[in-house]
Amino acid sequence: MTAPIWDDGAWLGFRPLEGERSADVCVVGLGGSGLAAVHELLELGQRVIGIDAGTIAGGAAGRNGGFLLAGPADFHHDAVRQVGRDRAVALYQRTLREMDRMTSETPDAIRREGSLRVAESDAEREDCRAQLAAMHDDGLPASWYQGLEGEGLLIPTDGVFQPMRRCHARAGHAAMRGAQLFEGTAATRIAGSRVETPTGVVHCSAVIVAIDGRLEQVLPELVGRVRTARLQMLATMPTSEMRTPYAVYSRYGYEYWQQLPDGAVVLGGMRDLGGEREWTDVAEPSEPVQSLLEAHLRTRLGVNAPITHRWAGVVGYTENGLPVFDEVRPGVWAIGGYSGTGNVVGSICGRAVAQQIVRGHAEDRALFTG
Ligand SMILES: Cc1cc2nc3c(=O)[nH]c(=O)nc-3n(C[C@H](O)[C@H](O)[C@H](O)COP(=O)(O)OP(=O)(O)OC[C@H]3O[C@@H](n4cnc5c(N)ncnc54)[C@H](O)[C@@H]3O)c2cc1C
Repeated sequence: MTAPIWDDGAWLGFRPLEGERSADVCVVGLGGSGLAAVHELLELGQRVIGIDAGTIAGGAAGRNGGFLLAGPADFHHDAVRQVGRDRAVALYQRTLREMDRMTSETPDAIRREGSLRVAESDAEREDCRAQLAAMHDDGLPASWYQGLEGEGLLIPTDGVFQPMRRCHARAGHAAMRGAQLFEGTAATRIAGSRVETPTGVVHCSAVIVAIDGRLEQVLPELVGRVRTARLQMLATMPTSEMRTPYAVYSRYGYEYWQQLPDGAVVLGGMRDLGGEREWTDVAEPSEPVQSLLEAHLRTRLGVNAPITHRWAGVVGYTENGLPVFDEVRPGVWAIGGYSGTGNVVGSICGRAVAQQIVRGHAEDRALFTG
C-alpha cells in the first residue's frame, strides 16, 4: 500500500557494488537527476559509476505526481517579478526544450496533453488572469479554460509521465552505454577522489551527489540551506467518475492530480495543511494529510472509487526556491533542493553539472541558480 502506483514490479535491478572500482566520475543517487548526469557524462566520453542507496527511482523520482511543467517552481508572472523578465522567459524556454528532449528519450512514458491551473477562489482566479497576461506578453502558449475541472489556465505544452518507468528505461539505457550502476549501495564517505560504501570503494576524479530530499544529511555542509519535507499522494482504482487528460493543479499548486489512461486517479498535496510534521525525512504516508487528500478526492473531485495506494516521498526545499548546484567539497558537486518541482529542472541540473565537471562551465548553471 505504501508503494507508489508507478511501481509495476517489473524492474529486475542491479547488484550492490563490491570491492574496488575506478571511474572518471562517480554519481551518488540514481533518480531522474542522477541519471541525467550519468547520460551526459557518457555523452562527454567519461567512464561513469553510479550508486544508489536503495533502488533506481526509489526516492522522489519514482514517488512523485508525474507532472512535467515548464518554468521554475514559481508561476511565470511571479518568476518575472522574482528574477526579471529576460531570465524568467529564458528559464521557461529552457524547461520547454528539456521537456521535448525527455519526451523524445522516453516517448512511451510521457503524454503531453497540457496542464490546467484551476482557481479555488476569486483571488486565485485573478492571479490566473495575471499569469495568463504575463505569458501572452512573453509569447508563451497558454489560454483561458473553463470546464469540468474548474476555471483557470490551460498550458498546452505541459504534460504527465510515468516517472518510475522513465527512470528504469534511462537506467537500462545507461548500462547498455557502458555506465556501471549499482543499487543497494549507500555512499558512507564522500570525497572528490574516493567514495566509500559498506562493501566497496569507488576511486574517481570527481563526484556528483544528486539527491533531493535528505541532501543535507548526506552533505551536512548544506544544513540551513536545504530543508527536507514530505509530500504525500494517493491513487484509486480505475474509475469513470471523472475524466481529464490534463495535469491539473489548484490552490496555487498545493493540490495536484492526474488521471491515468486506465482511469485511475492520482492525487497529491495538502503539505501545508499538514503543518510542521511534514518537515520530516520519514517517507511514509500519515495523518492528517491522507485524510485531507481523501476528502479532496471525494468532495472536490467527486470520486468514490476505492483507494488502492497511499505513499509519500521526501524532497529538498531552499529558502529562495533555487536549487543547490555547488562544489561543496573539492571535487564533490551537489545538485538538489528543487522545492517540490524537480522533474524537469533536476534533469537540466543533472546534465549541467556533468558539463561543469568535464568542461569547467555550464550555461544552465547561471540560469537556474544564484
Ligand atoms: C509526492 C511527490 C510529488 C511530486 N510531484 C512533482 C511533480 O508533479 N512535478 C515535479 O517536477 N516534481 C515533483 N516532485 C519533486 C520531484 O519528484 C523531485 O524533485 C525529483 O524527483 C528529484 O529527483 P532526484 O533524482 O533529484 O532525487 P531523488 O529522487 O531524491 O533521488 C535521489 C536518490 O539518491 C539515493 N540516495 C540517498 N542517499 C544516498 C546515499 N548516501 N548514497 C547513495 N544513494 C543515496 C536515494 O535512494 C534516491 O534514489 C514531487 C515529489 C514528491 C515526493
